[in-house]
Order: sequence, then structure tokens, then C-alpha cells
Amino acid sequence: LVNFKDGQWVNPRIVPYGPIELMPGAICLHYGQTIFEGAKAFMHDDGELYAFRIDKNAERMNVSADLICMEQIPVELQVEGIMRLLDVDRKWCPTMPESSMYIRPFMFATEDALGVRPSSEYIYCCILSPSGPYYAGGFNHGVRLLITDKYHRAVTGGTGASKTAGNYTASMRPGLIAKKCGASQVLYLDASNTYIEEAGAMNHFHITKDKTVVIPEFNDSILRSITSVSMIELLPSLGFKVRQERININDFVAQIKSGDIIEAGGFGTAAVVSPVNEYIFDDGTIIKVGDGKIGENTRKIYEAY
Ligand SMILES: *Cc1c(COP(=O)(O)O)cnc(C)c1O
Repeated sequence: LVNFKDGQWVNPRIVPYGPIELMPGAICLHYGQTIFEGAKAFMHDDGELYAFRIDKNAERMNVSADLICMEQIPVELQVEGIMRLLDVDRKWCPTMPESSMYIRPFMFATEDALGVRPSSEYIYCCILSPSGPYYAGGFNHGVRLLITDKYHRAVTGGTGASKTAGNYTASMRPGLIAKKCGASQVLYLDASNTYIEEAGAMNHFHITKDKTVVIPEFNDSILRSITSVSMIELLPSLGFKVRQERININDFVAQIKSGDIIEAGGFGTAAVVSPVNEYIFDDGTIIKVGDGKIGENTRKIYEAY
């Protein structure tokens, strides 16, 4: 825990997991000034814990803070706090393959004030949670996404590029509606229903038959996934071309039907790669990607990552 008070970050400390005291007027409870991060640390063969690109998460924390007018917190302070916490809890890190220590830093507005304005006080906090392999039964099933023009998680000029609670609030109802269609998530389109944005809380990607991995161009309604950024750096060494561009939903659907797009999925820390094998539309129509099974390229990317 670290407090921001009187213009300074003060009193960094590690305490046992337990309740946090808040005033009922705390701004986070009323106006949603709260942000978070998600990262993983892995136990290596040398018996040491390694956090995957945690500096990128710390930097993005400040991007998120800036977008919703919260105080930034020095990257070095975040990283040092997380490292010390990992050190305290190191024995809880699972060691089986593909398991990790999940890292959840977050920050929320604590000033006791009912006016709608940015808080002058904050708490930065980080908790950990041991987590087993995401694909416990093996990497062998794809998911269905709902393509809808009725619901959006973020709009241009809004807060979509911030990892703030409100974006998740906005995605809950669409998420439930997707489940009713047998889909795991919504493939969010931009508010004009023209371009592909995100696959639930993951960036979306697709692979064309000439082995190009295509990710929607980052904009202010797409979260800049560290998994995507890392994939963009990694994939050329695996023989893939990588491109970010605006992807028109009609072109996308046409290319799935023509077989020019052979695989698709989502990128994010929790699953790393989540293969998509079909899309369902509002009217119940379903289209399959490739042969509906996890493609060899998706598998290769997942394993290399
Ligand atoms: C966290 C998140 C992602 C994935 O980002 P990673 O850094 O790869 O974990 C993608 N989209 C949204 C909306 C997110 O909140």
C-alpha cells in the first residue's frame, strides 16, 4: 500500500491481506476514479521469481491514471513495491508448468468529497494470487464471439485506452448477452459499427493465409495490450509478418468466408492467446473460422510466447 496525500506519495508498506478503511464519501465509490493492472510472475528453474515486463504495466498504470485525471505514481516505486511483495510471498508461487503468480496492482480515489472532480488523495495497492495454468485441459478449444452493433465498451473521445473500472462496468451487460448466445465475449466494434476494436477484455487478432498477424490499430478506445505489443516484437522471429491497421468489419467477415483469414483470437495476460473458432451475429447467423479447430499458427504463437 502507498498513500497519496498533500501532493506526495507517502508511507509505502506491506501489510497482511485484509479490509481497507474508506470514508463513505470516497470519490472512487461514487465517480469511479479507479484503475488497475494485471501481470504475472513466473518461478524459473534457478528458484527465482521473474515478473513479465512489469515495467510496462507500471508505465501503463500512469497512462490510465492520466486519462482519468488521477495522480501518477513513479514507475520505480511501483516496481520496487511489487518486487518486495513478491519476495515476501514467494513461497506461494506455484511451480507447475504454465502456472504463475498473478499480480494485481490498482489505485483508487479516497478523498471524502461529494463534488464531481478529480480526487486529491489516492491509495495505490497491489495484491497477488497464485494461479494455475489457464488451459488446464490443454490448449485445445476455441471460443465463439458475438458480433453486435448494439453494445459498445468504449467510444472515441472516451476512456477505452485506460484500464479503468468503468470500461469493465460498460462491458458487463454485453458480456452476459454474449453468454446467452453461447459466446464467451463480444467482439466490440467502434461506436460507428464500422471497425473491429476488442475481443472482450483482450485485443483481437487474425491471421491471413500468407501468415500475416493483423491487430487493430491502437486508438483511444482500445487498450494497448502488453501481450499484443510483445507479440508484435516476437512474431517476425517466428516467420510471421505483423501489421496493425483499421479493420473494417464487413471486409473481415468477407475474408473469413473467402478463406483469406484462416485463424483468429484474442491476446491478453490471463490466457495469453485465446483462439476464436466462430462468430455469431445478432440475428443468430454463425460463421466459422477456417475449419473451426485451433489452427497451427495460433498454436505455434502460443507455445513460442
Ligand atoms: C487488460 C486488457 C487487455 C490485455 O492487456 P494485456 O496487457 O495484454 O494483459 C486488452 N483489452 C482490455 C480492454 C484490457 O482491459
